[in-house]
Amino acid sequence: MTARILVVDDMDINLRLMEARLAAEYFEVLTARSGAEAIEICERETIDIVLLDVMMPDLDGYEVCRRLKQSPRTRHLPIVLITSLDQPADRVAGLDAGADDFLTKPVRDLQLFSRVRSLVRLKILTDELRIRAETTVSLVARNDLLGQLAGQGMAGRLLVFDDDAGIAARIKKILQNEHQVDSTSDPAAALHAEQSRNFDLFIVNLATASYDALRLCSQIRSSDALRQVPILLVSDSADEARTAKALELGANDYLANPLDRNELLARVRTQIKRKRYDEGLRQSLRETIALAVTDPLTGLNNRRFLESHLPTVIERARKDAKPLSVLMADIDHFKRINDGWGHDAGDRVLKEFAARLKHSLRASDLACRFGGEEFVVLMPEADGRTAQLIAERLRSMVADQPFDISGESISVTVSVGVAVLDAVTDDWETLLKRADRGLYAAKRNGRNQVIALAA
Ligand code: GH3
Ligand code: MG
Ligand code: MG
Repeated sequence: MTARILVVDDMDINLRLMEARLAAEYFEVLTARSGAEAIEICERETIDIVLLDVMMPDLDGYEVCRRLKQSPRTRHLPIVLITSLDQPADRVAGLDAGADDFLTKPVRDLQLFSRVRSLVRLKILTDELRIRAETTVSLVARNDLLGQLAGQGMAGRLLVFDDDAGIAARIKKILQNEHQVDSTSDPAAALHAEQSRNFDLFIVNLATASYDALRLCSQIRSSDALRQVPILLVSDSADEARTAKALELGANDYLANPLDRNELLARVRTQIKRKRYDEGLRQSLRETIALAVTDPLTGLNNRRFLESHLPTVIERARKDAKPLSVLMADIDHFKRINDGWGHDAGDRVLKEFAARLKHSLRASDLACRFGGEEFVVLMPEADGRTAQLIAERLRSMVADQPFDISGESISVTVSVGVAVLDAVTDDWETLLKRADRGLYAAKRNGRNQVIALAA
């Protein structure tokens, strides 16, 4: 896994050391020598994670963190504060400023790389969701729905996994004023209980005697019902290797024994906020797409969705210097199908076509019904060759097997135009127009074929 990491520190030597360590693990590293420079870079560049020194002249790390978390453009960037002070109060101040994590100098390799990797993994997951949700949320509602949903991370439902009644009771005592806290010493039963999916957070003690807490983490992460529930570990500071392993298995954060009251409260709030935020994204995605941007006949996205989503996708392809292709497909002589078998049969052909279309695509491709019998597919990261292969697969999936419509066998063919984004000259309209010209060239050329046009 690779990522672009911004390291912020006012000391040159610290910057260079950190840069060398991260580069040795094949991360791409950018550096900033002041808070102001860091903010400027985050606004301008695509960054996956920020490692931020707390003690800096002018803007200190807390303030930089607060500003990044306030700006809509940068608020989703994971921020790790790096402090030389090992005071719990400073950690709490950092988490209150919105930091996602912190590391204490001297930063050990294990901590550094496990936390960076787990945050990057989470970011990759939420990026795609967020981009789609931003499109749809802005279509339907302009208010900060997601921010409201996250609330203050209070009144969560928590489950403590622990076979040590004393520690479980202490955790409960600290958290019960803000949350509803249950505990269990029987993880197998909890894993299978239907209501477990309703928890906002699992707190897992790593130092259990009667079962393997690492196995528990991996079981939670591989369970369809439970994988969205964040995991907060309680670990012994001596047990660094197991903590790292648990983070690698998908635990979200950890606290070291003996537990600090404020740190526990702050970290629980952070995890609950994040969970609700992610949930809100998923929910708003489901609802708004269903309401506003789905074609009812085929279940594909509609033209409205395509036209609002496409500029974002192009922007991202350009930033990441990745290819992007589109195809435009139009069923051949569709009027004859309507005329020969009736409008209802025509509708059923469209449905079956959409099903075959979906079948011929990859999960990251996005298919839309553009108009009557015209379809557009966005293929992020597909170069011209890949896009042509996909288009050709679609063409043959349609032509090779007649459509079975209420007992009638109807032969259908499709013509397809393919265009690859030219990052320098294209906007979404010129890109679609080129695919459309390819499509009409395919029609003129005799139909049932794929034509790609160069920019
Ligand atoms: P070509 O090969 O040049 O694309 O010919 P064509 O007949 O497919 O193209 P044309 O654009 O002339 O006709 C498209 C037809 O699709 C006309 C329209 O009535 C029909 N159509 C559009 N939307 C729907 C729909 O939702 N259901 C049905 N059954 N027909 C539709
Ligand atoms: Mg047609
Ligand atoms: Mg047409």
